[in-house]
Amino acid sequence: MITISNGTVLFGPDLIAKNTNILIDNGRIIEISNDVVEGEIIDATDCIVCPSFLNAHTHIGDSIIKDIGDGKSIDEIVKPPNGLKHLELEKSSDKDLIDSMKETMWNMLETGTTHFIDYREGGLKGVNLLKKAAKDIPINPIILGRDDSFYDEDPNLSKVKIAIKKILKVSDGIAPSGFGEISDEVAFLIVSECKKKGKLSSIHAGEYEALQKDSLNNTGKTEIQKAVEAGFNQIVHITSPLNDDLDLISKNNKNVVLCPRSNGAFSVGIPPLMEIFKKGIKPLIGTDNIMINSPNIFRELEYTLKIMKAFYKEYIAPKDILKMATTNVCIAGSLNNNIDLDNNLNYGDNSNKEKIMAKNDFKTKINKLTIEKDNFAQLFIVKKLSKNPYLSLINRSETKDIICVMNKDKLVCYN
Ligand SMILES: [Zn+2]
Repeated sequence: MITISNGTVLFGPDLIAKNTNILIDNGRIIEISNDVVEGEIIDATDCIVCPSFLNAHTHIGDSIIKDIGDGKSIDEIVKPPNGLKHLELEKSSDKDLIDSMKETMWNMLETGTTHFIDYREGGLKGVNLLKKAAKDIPINPIILGRDDSFYDEDPNLSKVKIAIKKILKVSDGIAPSGFGEISDEVAFLIVSECKKKGKLSSIHAGEYEALQKDSLNNTGKTEIQKAVEAGFNQIVHITSPLNDDLDLISKNNKNVVLCPRSNGAFSVGIPPLMEIFKKGIKPLIGTDNIMINSPNIFRELEYTLKIMKAFYKEYIAPKDILKMATTNVCIAGSLNNNIDLDNNLNYGDNSNKEKIMAKNDFKTKINKLTIEKDNFAQLFIVKKLSKNPYLSLINRSETKDIICVMNKDKLVCYN
């Protein structure tokens, strides 16, 4: 048993700040009250106890090529299969790739991130490399694989289907790059195979205006519309929605991930956060490619809060920004709801559904990333550097201020 005592706890889905103690047994929160003091004591006086971060979009495979390609266009840098990134990664040894991914995961952990959703390139082998790299690190990667066969000019659909099935055996889902690189038939196969297994399908869409307009001109639909209609669980970026894209997302309860620093780094714009909030969408946040951004969520949150205030010339509540990296995943429009909904819709037969849910470990991986009784202890303790706990985290927290990171029964202490 462990008691975290006297911290400013950001409690529940609304991150309500209250001074209290938390009793943890075997990685689970069993009591939250001022009176409880049992087992090992971690003194959190003058500290904030925050739910640990979910970095909802990364490509940690490119940890090995940090800051290459500066000055080149987004397509020249990251577009598969011939972008600079993909050519450079092909040249890297497995050992170097694993070492650089490990370094990134330790880096994430020491900045409060216990969960991340990764777009893993390199097919089946790529997924297995990340699993190997993550093996001894108390962090939970949610790995979305892909296969080169997706990108063939005239893809062989039975070959694509076999590749998807193989990847789904070892991964948490599938994430192709975007509609510019895959056909509608491949998109359909990805979504339907993921649904069958209760796994996550995710895709980049609407990252910049030209992509959206090209898609509209060529197909009569925006990328975001195509992503929603194809049934992807999660849509990443939506930086340049057109027409009624945001209504479609909201109506279909899609999970979205914004990556503001990445959009800045690639000079493609600013995600329309106020419009997204106004539609009732609860976005997540991701740091995207390690080659262009550190995976430090504090940096992402500060950039996001300030660029949005500058852009809209309005007040934005810091708490709403913090929720993008923490509790938004647990409330309306969340990943879990989408997965559940899909399972309910497609697998009426209960025994089959249970089998699927048993295999689908999203529930244990990212459900309930809130500090509440009976939830897993997925949290970090960080020095409180100002009286406003939300701004203390967003404006001031540095790696050196983190005292401990707890991921269920794993505790890593830094101070
Ligand atoms: Zn990305």
